[in-house]
Amino acid sequence: MGSHGHRIRRRALGQHFLRDAGIARAIVDLVAPTPADLVVEIGPGEGALTGELARRGGRVVALEVDRALAERLRGRWASVEVLEADARAWDYSALAAPPGGRLLVVGNLPYSVSKPILVTLLAARRTIAEMALMLQREVAERIAAGPGGKVYGSLSVLTQLYCDARIALRVPPGAFRPPPSVESAVVHLRVLRTPRVATDEARFHAVVHAAFAQRRKMLANALASGLGFSVDHARRAAVAAGIDPSRRAETLSIVEFAGLSAQLS
Ligand code: SAM
Repeated sequence: MGSHGHRIRRRALGQHFLRDAGIARAIVDLVAPTPADLVVEIGPGEGALTGELARRGGRVVALEVDRALAERLRGRWASVEVLEADARAWDYSALAAPPGGRLLVVGNLPYSVSKPILVTLLAARRTIAEMALMLQREVAERIAAGPGGKVYGSLSVLTQLYCDARIALRVPPGAFRPPPSVESAVVHLRVLRTPRVATDEARFHAVVHAAFAQRRKMLANALASGLGFSVDHARRAAVAAGIDPSRRAETLSIVEFAGLSAQLS
């Protein structure tokens, strides 16, 4: 591939490499791996986080989709296994926490595919203890948002059903080479032992997606059109859950979404 082709590919793969060792350390410090832990790193790139993870002493499995980068990293650290793999489709459940240790996930994610990667990680959450993920700042804000604002949406609700989520660090474009055109932030996710509320998860997901698909509409109307119910049925379900059917999705807490989805069976 010529250098032009390389540039296009690097952009498509979100290849902005961290140049700030202090930030790499701060990201790894969020999950504080010990030699007893197993860390999965997503998109190691040129190894800014990988080196810091290796220094902490535990085993690291690094998933890198770019063959040339994966090959360059291989063999640099004895405790790091570099796999050429797509982090969206990789089977995380094939790994387990080591006896007496935790399974941690760390990564400076490629921003164009950060959402599908997050969805895959949430589906594999049962084996994962904590995650520290660098994302585009807007996405990080949506993940960590509470009800009541414009950024609160299905990504917030579905992440926080399974995790405590907070924005731990904001990172300026100048910390990367080449600098991305957007601001970045690191979210720290602690996976809950059980979901925040007991709920039929498939139905909960469907209700949340329908409610936010038309987030400017009144709840009852959004649910009716998204789920194929009559508006009257959706309204009665909301009232039975103690929720005013004229509210908008962005005002509902996770507990209220669970109550609503129980009434919508
Ligand atoms: N961790 C490095 C750092 O902080 O300097 C690189 C981060 S860079 C933002 C994202 C990395 O993810 C790139 O190395 C890219 O090749 C890789 N990547 C892109 N898509 C991927 C995918 N679907 N699965 C695994 N890695 C991917």
